[in-house]
Amino acid sequence: MIAKVNQNKTNPTTLSNETGLNEEALVTLLRNSYELQQQETQEEEEEEEEEEEEETKTSQNSIANEEIRECPMCYWEFPKQFTLENKKEHIEKHFA
Ligand SMILES: [Zn+2]
Repeated sequence: MIAKVNQNKTNPTTLSNETGLNEEALVTLLRNSYELQQQETQEEEEEEEEEEEEETKTSQNSIANEEIRECPMCYWEFPKQFTLENKKEHIEKHFA
């Protein structure tokens, strides 16, 4: 009887469930920002049709860097010199 009561008190699945949700949220966030990046790239290409030479200069890196301006977890605004890799590293620290 006593052993059964103790088992009911502890719920080891709760912690692992929360961790799984957090990782899923991070993946969703990064995926959404990538899709947004794709859309903005298309819009910019349409705007630049008048300047044919400019089209070849389309910098995907700078667009990607501007996608995530602040941390979605702690709302800390990233420094401008932060690369996308730096931002990912910071965000991933919240899940470590
Ligand atoms: Zn943060």
